[in-house]
Amino acid sequence: MAAPGLLPGVGRLIEMPSALGRLGRAYSKSHAFKEVLQLPKMELTKLVFPLQELQRHLLPDAQPDLLQLRIFDPSLEAIARAESFFTATPRNRIEYVSSAVRLDHAPDLPRPEVCFIGRSNVGKSSLIKALFSLAPEVEVRVSKTPGHTKKMDFFKVGKYFTLVDMPGYGYRAPEDFVDMVETYLKERKTLLRTFLLVDSVVGIQKADNIAIEMCEEFALPYVMVLTKIDKPSKGHLLKQVLEIQKFVDTKTQGCFPQLFPVSAMTYSGIHLLRCFIATITGNLKTNEWHLTLLKTQRILCQLELNTSISTLF
Ligand code: GDP
Repeated sequence: MAAPGLLPGVGRLIEMPSALGRLGRAYSKSHAFKEVLQLPKMELTKLVFPLQELQRHLLPDAQPDLLQLRIFDPSLEAIARAESFFTATPRNRIEYVSSAVRLDHAPDLPRPEVCFIGRSNVGKSSLIKALFSLAPEVEVRVSKTPGHTKKMDFFKVGKYFTLVDMPGYGYRAPEDFVDMVETYLKERKTLLRTFLLVDSVVGIQKADNIAIEMCEEFALPYVMVLTKIDKPSKGHLLKQVLEIQKFVDTKTQGCFPQLFPVSAMTYSGIHLLRCFIATITGNLKTNEWHLTLLKTQRILCQLELNTSISTLF
Protein backbone atom coordinates (compact mmCIF):
# COMPACT_ATOMS: atom_id res chain seq x y z
CA MET A 1 0.00 0.00 0.00
CA ALA A 2 1.39 3.30 -0.92
CA ALA A 3 1.57 6.37 1.03
CA PRO A 4 1.02 7.91 4.20
CA GLY A 5 4.26 6.46 5.58
CA LEU A 6 6.75 8.72 3.80
CA LEU A 7 9.02 6.90 1.44
CA PRO A 8 12.79 7.05 1.19
CA GLY A 9 12.69 8.73 -2.21
CA VAL A 10 10.79 11.70 -0.89
CA GLY A 11 12.82 11.92 2.31
CA ARG A 12 14.93 14.80 1.11
CA LEU A 13 11.85 16.80 0.30
CA ILE A 14 10.67 16.71 3.88
CA GLU A 15 13.95 17.74 5.38
CA MET A 16 12.96 21.31 4.54
CA PRO A 17 11.68 23.44 7.41
CA SER A 18 8.01 22.93 8.10
CA ALA A 19 5.83 25.07 5.89
CA LEU A 20 2.63 24.23 7.71
CA GLY A 21 2.39 27.50 9.53
CA ARG A 22 2.42 29.31 6.23
CA LEU A 23 -0.12 27.06 4.58
CA GLY A 24 -3.04 27.97 6.78
CA ARG A 25 -5.92 25.79 7.86
CA ALA A 26 -7.61 24.54 4.70
CA TYR A 27 -5.97 23.84 1.38
CA SER A 28 -7.80 26.50 -0.49
CA LYS A 29 -5.13 26.89 -3.13
CA SER A 30 -2.63 24.81 -4.98
CA HIS A 31 0.70 24.07 -3.35
CA ALA A 32 3.82 22.41 -4.58
CA PHE A 33 3.74 18.80 -3.58
CA LYS A 34 6.85 19.17 -1.45
CA GLU A 35 4.77 21.38 0.84
CA VAL A 36 1.95 18.87 0.88
CA LEU A 37 4.41 16.24 2.06
CA GLN A 38 4.99 18.22 5.21
CA LEU A 39 1.39 17.94 6.35
CA PRO A 40 0.51 15.73 9.32
CA LYS A 41 -0.42 12.24 8.19
CA MET A 42 -4.22 12.65 8.55
CA GLU A 43 -4.32 15.92 6.65
CA LEU A 44 -2.05 14.54 3.96
CA THR A 45 -4.29 11.48 3.49
CA LYS A 46 -7.38 13.68 3.27
CA LEU A 47 -5.78 15.89 0.66
CA VAL A 48 -3.98 13.30 -1.45
CA PHE A 49 -6.05 10.13 -0.96
CA PRO A 50 -9.62 11.31 -0.24
CA LEU A 51 -11.09 7.88 -0.93
CA GLN A 52 -8.78 6.31 1.63
CA GLU A 53 -9.90 8.89 4.13
CA LEU A 54 -13.55 8.05 3.44
CA GLN A 55 -12.95 4.33 3.73
CA ARG A 56 -11.75 4.96 7.29
CA HIS A 57 -15.33 5.90 8.18
CA LEU A 58 -16.75 2.56 7.09
CA LEU A 59 -17.35 -0.19 9.63
CA PRO A 60 -14.15 -2.04 10.54
CA ASP A 61 -15.64 -5.31 9.31
CA ALA A 62 -16.60 -3.86 5.93
CA GLN A 63 -15.01 -5.53 2.96
CA PRO A 64 -11.34 -4.52 3.07
CA ASP A 65 -11.23 -2.88 -0.34
CA LEU A 66 -14.85 -1.98 -0.87
CA LEU A 67 -13.88 1.24 -2.61
CA GLN A 68 -11.30 -0.43 -4.88
CA LEU A 69 -8.57 1.64 -3.33
CA ARG A 70 -5.73 -0.59 -4.28
CA ILE A 71 -6.10 -0.52 -8.03
CA PHE A 72 -4.29 2.71 -8.69
CA ASP A 73 -2.28 3.26 -5.57
CA PRO A 74 0.87 5.21 -6.40
CA SER A 75 3.59 6.13 -3.94
CA LEU A 76 4.00 9.71 -2.78
CA GLU A 77 7.20 9.74 -4.76
CA ALA A 78 5.33 8.91 -7.98
CA ILE A 79 2.75 11.60 -7.21
CA ALA A 80 5.58 14.09 -6.68
CA ARG A 81 7.09 13.11 -10.03
CA ALA A 82 3.74 13.56 -11.79
CA GLU A 83 3.75 17.25 -10.85
CA SER A 84 6.50 17.95 -13.35
CA PHE A 85 4.26 17.07 -16.30
CA PHE A 86 1.73 19.68 -15.16
CA THR A 87 4.25 22.38 -14.34
CA ALA A 88 4.72 24.97 -17.08
CA THR A 89 8.35 25.78 -17.87
CA PRO A 90 10.01 27.10 -21.04
CA ARG A 91 10.77 23.46 -21.88
CA ASN A 92 7.36 22.16 -20.91
CA ARG A 93 4.81 24.40 -22.54
CA ILE A 94 1.27 23.93 -21.41
CA GLU A 95 -1.11 25.85 -23.60
CA TYR A 96 -4.49 26.14 -25.22
CA VAL A 97 -4.18 25.01 -28.85
CA SER A 98 -7.56 25.57 -30.51
CA SER A 99 -11.27 24.85 -30.34
CA ALA A 100 -13.50 22.86 -32.64
CA VAL A 101 -17.20 22.33 -33.16
CA ARG A 102 -16.63 19.33 -35.39
CA LEU A 103 -14.17 16.49 -35.25
CA ASP A 104 -12.69 17.37 -38.64
CA HIS A 105 -11.78 20.80 -37.21
CA ALA A 106 -9.91 19.24 -34.29
CA PRO A 107 -6.15 19.85 -34.24
CA ASP A 108 -3.93 17.06 -35.39
CA LEU A 109 -1.83 16.37 -32.31
CA PRO A 110 0.17 13.15 -32.37
CA ARG A 111 -0.04 12.50 -28.63
CA PRO A 112 -2.27 10.48 -26.36
CA GLU A 113 -5.42 12.40 -25.58
CA VAL A 114 -7.70 12.50 -22.53
CA CYS A 115 -11.06 14.24 -22.52
CA PHE A 116 -13.31 15.58 -19.77
CA ILE A 117 -17.08 15.39 -20.11
CA GLY A 118 -19.90 16.20 -17.71
CA ARG A 119 -23.18 18.02 -17.17
CA SER A 120 -23.13 21.82 -17.27
CA ASN A 121 -22.26 23.09 -13.80
CA VAL A 122 -20.70 19.80 -12.68
CA GLY A 123 -17.45 21.69 -12.00
CA LYS A 124 -15.57 20.76 -15.17
CA SER A 125 -13.84 24.08 -15.84
CA SER A 126 -12.97 24.42 -12.16
CA LEU A 127 -11.43 20.95 -12.17
CA ILE A 128 -9.40 21.60 -15.33
CA LYS A 129 -8.22 24.89 -13.85
CA ALA A 130 -7.15 23.05 -10.69
CA LEU A 131 -5.26 20.45 -12.75
CA PHE A 132 -3.53 23.32 -14.58
CA SER A 133 -2.84 25.39 -11.47
CA LEU A 134 0.90 24.82 -11.97
CA ALA A 135 0.55 26.48 -15.37
CA PRO A 136 -1.24 29.70 -14.39
CA GLU A 137 -0.98 31.18 -17.90
CA VAL A 138 -3.41 28.61 -19.27
CA GLU A 139 -6.88 30.04 -19.70
CA VAL A 140 -9.73 27.63 -19.24
CA ARG A 141 -12.94 28.95 -20.69
CA VAL A 142 -15.88 29.14 -18.31
CA SER A 143 -19.33 29.06 -19.82
CA LYS A 144 -21.68 31.30 -17.92
CA THR A 145 -24.53 31.00 -20.40
CA PRO A 146 -26.08 27.56 -20.53
CA GLY A 147 -26.87 26.53 -24.08
CA HIS A 148 -24.58 28.94 -25.89
CA THR A 149 -22.53 27.38 -28.66
CA LYS A 150 -19.79 25.51 -26.95
CA LYS A 151 -16.78 23.97 -28.46
CA MET A 152 -14.26 21.30 -27.71
CA ASP A 153 -11.18 23.05 -26.33
CA PHE A 154 -7.80 21.40 -26.90
CA PHE A 155 -4.84 21.93 -24.55
CA LYS A 156 -1.33 20.71 -25.16
CA VAL A 157 0.57 19.50 -22.09
CA GLY A 158 4.21 19.70 -23.13
CA LYS A 159 5.11 16.88 -25.47
CA TYR A 160 3.27 14.45 -23.21
CA PHE A 161 -0.45 14.50 -23.91
CA THR A 162 -3.49 16.54 -24.99
CA LEU A 163 -6.35 17.40 -22.67
CA VAL A 164 -9.76 18.15 -24.19
CA ASP A 165 -12.49 20.12 -22.44
CA MET A 166 -15.78 18.94 -23.95
CA PRO A 167 -18.97 21.00 -23.95
CA GLY A 168 -21.22 20.47 -20.93
CA TYR A 169 -24.35 18.41 -21.49
CA GLY A 170 -27.75 18.32 -19.83
CA TYR A 171 -29.94 21.36 -19.38
CA ARG A 172 -30.22 23.30 -22.65
CA ALA A 173 -27.18 21.71 -24.21
CA PRO A 174 -26.44 22.94 -27.72
CA GLU A 175 -28.46 21.13 -30.35
CA ASP A 176 -25.44 19.81 -32.12
CA PHE A 177 -23.96 18.56 -28.87
CA VAL A 178 -24.78 14.88 -29.32
CA ASP A 179 -23.42 14.81 -32.87
CA MET A 180 -20.27 16.63 -31.86
CA VAL A 181 -19.53 14.56 -28.79
CA GLU A 182 -20.62 11.22 -30.21
CA THR A 183 -18.48 11.63 -33.30
CA TYR A 184 -15.50 12.73 -31.23
CA LEU A 185 -15.82 9.84 -28.76
CA LYS A 186 -16.38 7.30 -31.50
CA GLU A 187 -13.80 8.43 -34.03
CA ARG A 188 -10.97 10.32 -32.37
CA LYS A 189 -8.03 8.02 -32.94
CA THR A 190 -5.77 9.45 -30.27
CA LEU A 191 -8.40 9.40 -27.51
CA LEU A 192 -7.03 7.26 -24.74
CA ARG A 193 -9.33 7.86 -21.78
CA THR A 194 -12.56 9.74 -21.08
CA PHE A 195 -13.05 11.34 -17.67
CA LEU A 196 -16.75 11.50 -16.87
CA LEU A 197 -17.53 13.98 -14.13
CA VAL A 198 -20.35 13.39 -11.64
CA ASP A 199 -21.39 15.90 -8.99
CA SER A 200 -20.84 14.28 -5.58
CA VAL A 201 -23.73 16.27 -4.09
CA VAL A 202 -26.43 14.93 -6.41
CA GLY A 203 -24.87 11.71 -7.73
CA ILE A 204 -25.57 10.16 -11.12
CA GLN A 205 -28.35 12.04 -12.93
CA LYS A 206 -30.40 11.15 -16.01
CA ALA A 207 -28.10 13.15 -18.28
CA ASP A 208 -25.07 11.38 -16.78
CA ASN A 209 -26.67 8.05 -17.62
CA ILE A 210 -26.88 9.05 -21.26
CA ALA A 211 -23.15 9.84 -21.27
CA ILE A 212 -22.39 6.57 -19.46
CA GLU A 213 -24.46 4.64 -22.01
CA MET A 214 -22.56 6.39 -24.80
CA CYS A 215 -19.20 5.35 -23.33
CA GLU A 216 -20.43 1.79 -22.81
CA GLU A 217 -21.89 1.54 -26.31
CA PHE A 218 -18.66 2.72 -27.92
CA ALA A 219 -16.66 0.44 -25.59
CA LEU A 220 -14.57 3.38 -24.42
CA PRO A 221 -12.35 3.10 -21.40
CA TYR A 222 -13.61 5.80 -19.03
CA VAL A 223 -13.12 6.96 -15.48
CA MET A 224 -15.66 8.45 -13.08
CA VAL A 225 -14.54 11.59 -11.27
CA LEU A 226 -16.68 12.85 -8.38
CA THR A 227 -16.56 16.63 -8.15
CA LYS A 228 -17.12 19.15 -5.33
CA ILE A 229 -16.38 16.71 -2.51
CA ASP A 230 -15.85 19.62 -0.11
CA LYS A 231 -19.57 20.44 -0.39
CA PRO A 232 -21.60 17.52 1.00
CA SER A 233 -21.40 16.34 4.60
CA LYS A 234 -19.11 13.38 5.19
CA GLY A 235 -22.13 11.07 5.64
CA HIS A 236 -23.77 12.22 2.43
CA LEU A 237 -20.53 11.92 0.50
CA LEU A 238 -19.93 8.40 1.80
CA LYS A 239 -23.46 7.39 0.77
CA GLN A 240 -22.95 8.81 -2.74
CA VAL A 241 -19.54 7.20 -3.11
CA LEU A 242 -20.86 3.77 -2.04
CA GLU A 243 -23.84 4.05 -4.40
CA ILE A 244 -21.72 5.14 -7.34
CA GLN A 245 -19.10 2.46 -6.60
CA LYS A 246 -21.86 -0.16 -6.61
CA PHE A 247 -23.16 1.21 -9.89
CA VAL A 248 -19.68 1.03 -11.44
CA ASP A 249 -19.14 -2.51 -10.14
CA THR A 250 -22.47 -3.90 -11.29
CA LYS A 251 -23.64 -1.84 -14.25
CA THR A 252 -20.56 -0.92 -16.23
CA GLN A 253 -17.98 -2.71 -18.31
CA GLY A 254 -15.68 0.03 -19.54
CA CYS A 255 -15.53 2.17 -16.41
CA PHE A 256 -12.31 2.08 -14.40
CA PRO A 257 -13.27 0.33 -11.16
CA GLN A 258 -11.78 3.00 -8.88
CA LEU A 259 -13.51 6.36 -8.39
CA PHE A 260 -11.61 9.65 -8.29
CA PRO A 261 -13.19 12.09 -5.82
CA VAL A 262 -11.90 15.67 -6.19
CA SER A 263 -12.45 19.19 -4.98
CA ALA A 264 -11.35 22.17 -7.01
CA MET A 265 -11.75 24.27 -3.85
CA THR A 266 -9.56 22.34 -1.42
CA TYR A 267 -7.48 20.54 -4.07
CA SER A 268 -8.34 17.23 -2.48
CA GLY A 269 -7.73 14.42 -4.98
CA ILE A 270 -6.12 16.71 -7.58
CA HIS A 271 -2.56 15.40 -7.07
CA LEU A 272 -3.70 11.79 -7.38
CA LEU A 273 -5.68 12.58 -10.54
CA ARG A 274 -2.64 14.27 -12.09
CA CYS A 275 -0.58 11.19 -11.29
CA PHE A 276 -3.24 8.94 -12.83
CA ILE A 277 -3.30 10.99 -16.04
CA ALA A 278 0.50 11.03 -16.28
CA THR A 279 0.50 7.25 -15.79
CA ILE A 280 -2.22 6.24 -18.23
CA THR A 281 -0.79 8.47 -20.96
CA GLY A 282 2.40 6.42 -20.66
CA ASN A 283 4.54 9.23 -19.29
CA LEU A 284 5.02 8.02 -15.74
CA LYS A 285 5.84 4.56 -14.51
CA THR A 286 4.33 3.62 -11.17
CA ASN A 287 4.98 0.30 -9.51
CA GLU A 288 1.77 0.12 -7.55
CA TRP A 289 -0.51 -0.77 -10.42
CA HIS A 290 -2.78 -3.72 -9.82
CA LEU A 291 -5.24 -3.16 -12.61
CA THR A 292 -4.32 -6.05 -14.87
CA LEU A 293 -4.84 -8.68 -12.24
CA LEU A 294 -8.04 -7.16 -10.93
CA LYS A 295 -9.57 -6.69 -14.37
CA THR A 296 -8.64 -10.25 -15.24
CA GLN A 297 -10.27 -11.44 -12.04
CA ARG A 298 -13.39 -9.50 -12.85
CA ILE A 299 -13.62 -10.88 -16.37
CA LEU A 300 -13.15 -14.38 -15.04
CA CYS A 301 -15.92 -13.80 -12.51
CA GLN A 302 -18.19 -12.49 -15.22
CA LEU A 303 -17.61 -15.62 -17.22
CA GLU A 304 -18.41 -17.61 -14.10
CA LEU A 305 -15.34 -19.71 -14.46
CA ASN A 306 -14.82 -21.96 -11.50
CA THR A 307 -11.15 -22.38 -12.11
CA SER A 308 -9.10 -21.01 -9.28
CA ILE A 309 -7.38 -17.80 -10.37
CA SER A 310 -4.21 -18.82 -8.64
CA THR A 311 -3.77 -21.73 -11.02
CA LEU A 312 -3.84 -19.36 -13.97
CA PHE A 313 -0.97 -17.09 -12.91
P1 GDP B 1 -18.84 23.63 -15.44
O1 GDP B 1 -20.09 24.25 -16.00
O2 GDP B 1 -18.97 22.13 -15.36
O3 GDP B 1 -17.59 24.07 -16.12
O4 GDP B 1 -18.78 24.08 -13.90
P2 GDP B 1 -17.90 25.21 -13.18
O5 GDP B 1 -16.50 24.79 -13.04
O6 GDP B 1 -18.16 26.53 -13.85
O7 GDP B 1 -18.56 25.16 -11.74
C1 GDP B 1 -19.94 25.37 -11.53
C2 GDP B 1 -20.16 25.91 -10.12
O8 GDP B 1 -19.70 24.97 -9.15
C3 GDP B 1 -19.38 27.21 -9.86
O9 GDP B 1 -20.15 28.04 -9.05
C4 GDP B 1 -18.15 26.73 -9.11
O10 GDP B 1 -17.61 27.69 -8.25
C5 GDP B 1 -18.69 25.55 -8.33
N1 GDP B 1 -17.66 24.53 -8.10
C6 GDP B 1 -16.89 23.94 -9.01
N2 GDP B 1 -16.06 23.06 -8.45
C7 GDP B 1 -16.29 23.10 -7.12
C8 GDP B 1 -15.73 22.42 -5.99
O11 GDP B 1 -14.84 21.57 -6.09
N3 GDP B 1 -16.25 22.74 -4.76
C9 GDP B 1 -17.25 23.65 -4.61
N4 GDP B 1 -17.68 23.88 -3.37
N5 GDP B 1 -17.80 24.31 -5.65
C10 GDP B 1 -17.32 24.04 -6.89
